[in-house]
Amino acid sequence: MALDDYRKKRDFSKTPEPDGSAPTRKRKAGAGLFFSVQKHLASHLHYDLRLEWNGVLLSWAVPKGPSIDPADKRLAMQTEDHPYDYGTFEGVIPEGYGAGIVMLWDRGTWTPESPDVDAALRKGDLKFTLDGYKLKGSWVLVRTRGFGGGTRPSWLLIKHRDEWAGPIDITEFAPLSVKTPDADFVDILAADNPAVWTTNPPAKTGDTGKLFQRIIAQAVAMKEDRAPKETTTPRTSAKRSKKSG
Ligand code: MN
Repeated sequence: MALDDYRKKRDFSKTPEPDGSAPTRKRKAGAGLFFSVQKHLASHLHYDLRLEWNGVLLSWAVPKGPSIDPADKRLAMQTEDHPYDYGTFEGVIPEGYGAGIVMLWDRGTWTPESPDVDAALRKGDLKFTLDGYKLKGSWVLVRTRGFGGGTRPSWLLIKHRDEWAGPIDITEFAPLSVKTPDADFVDILAADNPAVWTTNPPAKTGDTGKLFQRIIAQAVAMKEDRAPKETTTPRTSAKRSKKSG
């Protein structure tokens, strides 16, 4: 079954991700196919492109994120199909596969330009139009030979030249959530349990390690600021009394 890999990788007693048991969505005639991009800070920052097809979400991990500049060819590693209801997931995966923070970075509908989608996927050349908040217009996913190598086929995600293309870094220009207004990773973690990784963050070294350190510290501070006075006051006074005593 299409979602076996998805389920195998996850322990649903430990992750808030959908378990894939929700019934397959019956699309209304004429309703668009769903697409989303989830910005995922895990062992490395990447963007997960998901296209609804045959009731599940075809998925690609794009390390640098989509680019609306047709000069850019963005590596997109195909990953396991995800359940349909994963597409709007946003939150914190505390441990295990994909541990980190997921932000719903874009969502909308997609329309195949290739007349036979299954044949296009087999051939490794899928042309499509996106209608999201951030990503629009014509795109192509082209499967590559030679790199990726293992079980994950590598593709390139490329923007076609049209009115929605331009020399703008869309990930820098529009970095925030489309689900929680103006939320960044700090807000998403602060709304959950920001102390979850104080001792054991999903990445410890390099730029990603530093990024986690900063996000965790900011989220903890944000949560403390928001907490009702009576829970923060004793903590502060305890610290003080320890010092003075
Ligand atoms: Mn991911």
